[in-house]
Amino acid sequence: MTEILIKAEGLSVHFPIGGTIFGKQMLKAVDNVSIEIEKGSFFGLVGESGSGKTTLGRALLKAAPISGGNAHYTDGEVEYDLENVSKEQLRDYRKRAQLIFQDPYAALSPRMTVRDIIAEPLEVMGITSNRAETDERVREIAAKCRLNLEHLRRFPHAFSGGQRQRISIARALVSAPKFIVADESVAALDVSIQADVLNLLKQIQSEMGLTFMFISHDLSVVAHTCDHVAVMYLGRLVETAPTRKLFDGPRHPYTKALFSAIPSLDPDDRGKAQKLEGEIPSPTNQPTGCKFHTRCPHAIDICKTQEPTLEGDGTGHEVSCHRWKELMAAVPA
Ligand code: SF4
Repeated sequence: MTEILIKAEGLSVHFPIGGTIFGKQMLKAVDNVSIEIEKGSFFGLVGESGSGKTTLGRALLKAAPISGGNAHYTDGEVEYDLENVSKEQLRDYRKRAQLIFQDPYAALSPRMTVRDIIAEPLEVMGITSNRAETDERVREIAAKCRLNLEHLRRFPHAFSGGQRQRISIARALVSAPKFIVADESVAALDVSIQADVLNLLKQIQSEMGLTFMFISHDLSVVAHTCDHVAVMYLGRLVETAPTRKLFDGPRHPYTKALFSAIPSLDPDDRGKAQKLEGEIPSPTNQPTGCKFHTRCPHAIDICKTQEPTLEGDGTGHEVSCHRWKELMAAVPA
């Protein structure tokens, strides 16, 4: 039986951003999102910039305020309702749930040695009780991240982007977390280095039995990494499926447009791209009905007034579109 590490139901993160004569204006960064993340899985979260994926990841880490719905964490040792944790539970949750940042250049203090950067969470969270214990833990986790003893004495400026990201990963792993949110963690790296870092994350995941939420704007990056993928648009989930199913048959017009953006080596495919027109609307002024209708080439009247709900087919593939069946039937075999 599969075990669920994180379960979110109707989760919302809304920020008040000032008022008008009609009342407070709200930025709906995440709106009514329900997901389940299986223990030991690599869960991909995909969407354009502004889709709310980073805010959702942070809400699940208790680093963004949950304003509606709930999120539940259970790892066999503890169970927390994340919208309502005590200070003591939150201190414990910080050890269990960690973030790997996007930018390996900005994430590391230039004035600290690599040893001190990796050791800091152990000292701040009171995980180790003396320097010898801290050093042993740092050496152990550095080795897992393919850093050697010589690296620990140096400062971040002496390293390449890929090496810096391995230092960030070591820092995130040193508290022995169960859940990691990797937010665009390879986006700033060269393609050849991306593969190296992704392989390292996969290897660490299986060795340490971790659960990952892997956030990316790029579907091609999640293809070989993730077990399950959720696609977000303007704070909502529009499609979610096991990775193979999503890649074999995307159903939502937005997901299809994201697929079209993946460069193809086949010259016959190049003219077929379904280009995504326009910009994602502002989360403070969202369209009525289907949030995607202002950019969707298949929008009809009902799309402008009635918001579709996520509809499953019993195989773990869910989509939120009034017309997905009709559009799939129209695709030539
Ligand atoms: Fe397009 Fe309508 Fe489907 Fe929204 S509900 S994705 S506008 S066809």
